[in-house]
Amino acid sequence: MNCIMCKANMTEGKVNHIVDIDGCIVIIKNVPANVCGQCGEYFINNVTALRLEEIVGEVAKSKAEILVLNYVELVA
Ligand SMILES: [Zn+2]
Repeated sequence: MNCIMCKANMTEGKVNHIVDIDGCIVIIKNVPANVCGQCGEYFINNVTALRLEEIVGEVAKSKAEILVLNYVELVA
């Protein structure tokens, strides 16, 4: 697939996905995604995105201000 931002080729890789939910910053490392080699934009597929929503919904209850998670460990 091509990047929606700059139309360059995207390749499979891992990204650090950052979500801001009600003032709680959740950083999820090692999320599989298609990454643009030119501008760094990335695209997460639907299955992974749903998984991330579940994870974020769960950890957002902890009331921490910043959380750093590792996707690879979470889904293992
Ligand atoms: Zn791009």
